[in-house]
Amino acid sequence: MVRKAEPFRIKMVEPIRMISREERIQKLKEAGFNPFLLKSEDVYIDLLTDSGTGAMSDRQWSALMLGDEAYAGSKSFYKVQAAVKDIFAYNFVIPTHQGRGAEQVLFPHLAGRKGQYVLGNMHFDTTMAHIELNGMIPVNLVIDDAFETEKKHPFKGNFDLDKLESFIEEKGVENIAFIIITITCNSAGGQPVSMENIRGVRRIADTYGLKIDIDSARFAENAYFIQKREPGYANKSIPEIIREMYAMGDYLTMSAKKDAIVNMGGLIGIKEDEALYNAAAASCVPMEGFITYGGLSGRDMEALAVGLYEGLDAEYLESRIGQVEYLGEELRKHGIPIQWPVGGHAVFVDAGKFLPHIPSEQFPAQALCNELYLESGVRAVEIGSLLLGRDPQTGEQKKAGVEFMRLTIPRRVYTDRHMDVVVDALVNIWQRRDQIKGLEFTYEPKVLRHFLCRLRPVA
Ligand SMILES: *Cc1c(COP(=O)(O)O)cnc(C)c1O
Repeated sequence: MVRKAEPFRIKMVEPIRMISREERIQKLKEAGFNPFLLKSEDVYIDLLTDSGTGAMSDRQWSALMLGDEAYAGSKSFYKVQAAVKDIFAYNFVIPTHQGRGAEQVLFPHLAGRKGQYVLGNMHFDTTMAHIELNGMIPVNLVIDDAFETEKKHPFKGNFDLDKLESFIEEKGVENIAFIIITITCNSAGGQPVSMENIRGVRRIADTYGLKIDIDSARFAENAYFIQKREPGYANKSIPEIIREMYAMGDYLTMSAKKDAIVNMGGLIGIKEDEALYNAAAASCVPMEGFITYGGLSGRDMEALAVGLYEGLDAEYLESRIGQVEYLGEELRKHGIPIQWPVGGHAVFVDAGKFLPHIPSEQFPAQALCNELYLESGVRAVEIGSLLLGRDPQTGEQKKAGVEFMRLTIPRRVYTDRHMDVVVDALVNIWQRRDQIKGLEFTYEPKVLRHFLCRLRPVA
C-alpha cells in the first residue's frame, strides 16, 4: 500500500486547546449535559457538524477581495450563475443565504393542494419542516438496508423503487406534490444514491408526470461514490457524473455550506421551467433579497463560485472521503459498532449497540456524546431518539430506528492525528461502557428540543 497525504499544505492555523478533565466535567454540567450548549472554546476537536465549518482555500480567500457589493447586477452573482450552468447544466440560478433559504423560496411554488405528499429517500430535517410549513406531508422511502448498520450495501441512500411506485399507486398521483432525491442521504449516514437508482426514480417520475428536486448539499461526494462503487463509472470524471445525475432532475436546492466549502450560502437551480423561475424570483426578493444576491454579500458569492469547483477536485475528494473512512475503519478494528460501509461526511456510531443497557428513552447516543467530551474534549452530536422527539398527538417519546452518535468531519480542517485522538478516546470508553448512565430531562422545550434541552444522568 502506498499512502497518500492531504493534497494541500497549511498556510494559516487556528490554535485549539484541551481544557482539563475537571474543567470539562464542570463545563458539561453547566451545559446541562447537552453539547450544543458548550462554548466552542471549551471544545478540543469539534465534530458537531460539517456545515459551514470547512476551511476555505487561498483562492477562496483572495476571491473575497473581488466581491462586487452592488445591490443589483453584481459581477459576483454572474460568476456563481456561470458556475452552476457549467457544473449542473441548469439554466436558472437564485442564490440564497443557506439551504433552508432555498427551500423557503422554492417549495411554496412546488406545492399543489394541502395534504399532498412529498416523496423522498430520507428528508433532511429542515427540508421536512419546509414541506410541513407548506401544508404537505413528507414521506421517506429509503431501502430497508439503510438501517442494517452491519450489512454491506454500496448505496444505502437508495430509494426503494417498489415502495415509491406502490405509494404513488395507492395514494393516487393527484395526491403527490413532487419527489426529492437527497444526495448523499444525510439522515441515513451520509450514504450515497446510485446512478441506476436515480435513473429508476426518473423513470417512475416520468410515468406519472412528477417533477424531481435534488437536495444537493453533498452532490460531489455522491458523485465520488458512484465513480468508486458503481459498475461502469470508474473511468468517468466527477464533472461527467454530476452532469449525468443532474440531467435526471428538474430543480436543485443546495446548502453550499457542505460540498461547496463556504461558511455560508445556498442555491436554487432550475433546469428549464422559466415560469417557475419567475415565480421563485418574485418570492426571493421579500424573503432573501434581490435576485442577484439572495441573502449573500458579493464576497460570499465570489468564494462560492470558487468553492463549487474546488469541491469537485478528484484528489481532494479522495482525501476527504478517505479521512472519514480512515476514522471508521480504525473504530471497526477495535470492535466499535458503526454504520458501515462508512458514508461521505461522518462516521455514525451505533450507540444502541455500544450501550445496550441504556434504553432509548434515556438517550444512549447523547450519553455517549457526553462521555466522549469528558474523555477527550471531542464534541459529537446525537442523531437518535432525542432528536426525533415526541409524537405530537400522544406526547409519547418516539423510538429512533438506530441510536446514532455522529462524528462529523469538517472539510480540510483536521488531520488524521485528530482522528486518532477520537479513536483512542472511544476505545477507552468502550472498555468501561457498562458504567455509563442514561439521561433524563431537567428542561424539555416543546419543539426542536435537542438544541436547547437540559439533562442529567439518571441516579
Ligand atoms: C444542511 C442540509 C440542508 C439545509 O441547509 P442549511 O444550509 O443548513 O440551511 C438541507 N438538506 C440537506 C441534505 C442538508 O445536509
